Amino acid sequence: MKTNPYEVLGVGRDAPAADIKKAFRRVARALHPDVNRDDPDAEEKFKEAAEAHEILSDHERRAIYDRYGHEGLSSRGYEPDFSGFGTFADIFDAFFGGAGAAFGRSGFGRSAVQGGDVAVSVEIALENAATGTTVDVEYDAVSPCERCNGNAAEPGTPIETCGRCGGAGQVRTVTRSAFGQLVRAQACDACGGEGKLAKTPCKRCGGRGREAARAALSIDVPAGIGDEQRIRVSGRGHAGERGGPPGDLFVLVRVTPDERFVRDGNDLVTVVDVSAPNAALGATLTVPTLDGDEQIEVRPGTQPGTVISLRGRGMPSLRRGARGDQRVVVNVVVPRHLTGEQRDLAERLAESLTDRNLADRDEESLFQRVRRALR
Ligand SMILES: [Zn+2]
Ligand SMILES: [Zn+2]
Repeated sequence: MKTNPYEVLGVGRDAPAADIKKAFRRVARALHPDVNRDDPDAEEKFKEAAEAHEILSDHERRAIYDRYGHEGLSSRGYEPDFSGFGTFADIFDAFFGGAGAAFGRSGFGRSAVQGGDVAVSVEIALENAATGTTVDVEYDAVSPCERCNGNAAEPGTPIETCGRCGGAGQVRTVTRSAFGQLVRAQACDACGGEGKLAKTPCKRCGGRGREAARAALSIDVPAGIGDEQRIRVSGRGHAGERGGPPGDLFVLVRVTPDERFVRDGNDLVTVVDVSAPNAALGATLTVPTLDGDEQIEVRPGTQPGTVISLRGRGMPSLRRGARGDQRVVVNVVVPRHLTGEQRDLAERLAESLTDRNLADRDEESLFQRVRRALR
């Protein structure tokens, strides 16, 4: 029992020719001999698909099938016969021009190909990330040859229609196949699918029309950019082929780790030291900010880990530009290496301390803070 070609290709009764071609390619791709080496059914399924395609892509055969079915076709002499082929791969190649060329990215003929993308990286300081900056990048990109402007011919010499393909960019070969004559099209190897050939190849690029060239560009880095963010510059990658658009340039931005600030989203975090006696007495501390040093007051009895927020002293938001905060974490440093006199003073202080000096009912204890942070 012969199978219904519409079902084999998974298309509707009224599918246009373009859909049938697409469906055949899709089915064929799945059955490619290279990926189905161990599937004995792949060859049969491919033959079925090929036959379905031959029927549905031919106006007359399709009309006969629609009216009379497979019998109508065989009574008119349309009978697939794969006996002339050796292996499954041979059959496949008969349809797709060897090595599955029809599925390759470049395809054949004069199809335009977009140029590839280029990636570069730059490193900037946190201050520059905060204000925004301009960086100069240099990179190698494939560009049209300067001497021949990309047309591959030595200046002043003619470009002629390719003799091999007659300007079509592809070469057709006609072979006998299961279905009678089968036409194969492949990119012309003389002109590489261009259809034109330089009589005298350009000396600079050897007739390729393209060359690697050093490109230099100034990149605007927006204020607020983060470490490892990318800036995409459209159209600054490798040149396209056969009229295709160029690729893009991707600039990876690295922000150098800063000795003073740790970034947390749009906030910056700093740690400042205060000696235990000064924390007890209250003190004025100098805090570095992106806008320069700033004096902040810590009140008497300031505990380790106290956070003081400086509003609007953080990084700008990439989108809105509003700045985050700077969080200043106060580190209370306990004095070390005491001299004899200091030791006496500390002993006297220690002896005089009472519970009232060490606990504050209104203030969150370190234990409470740890518990809150870990919750
Ligand atoms: Zn050619
Ligand atoms: Zn050139």
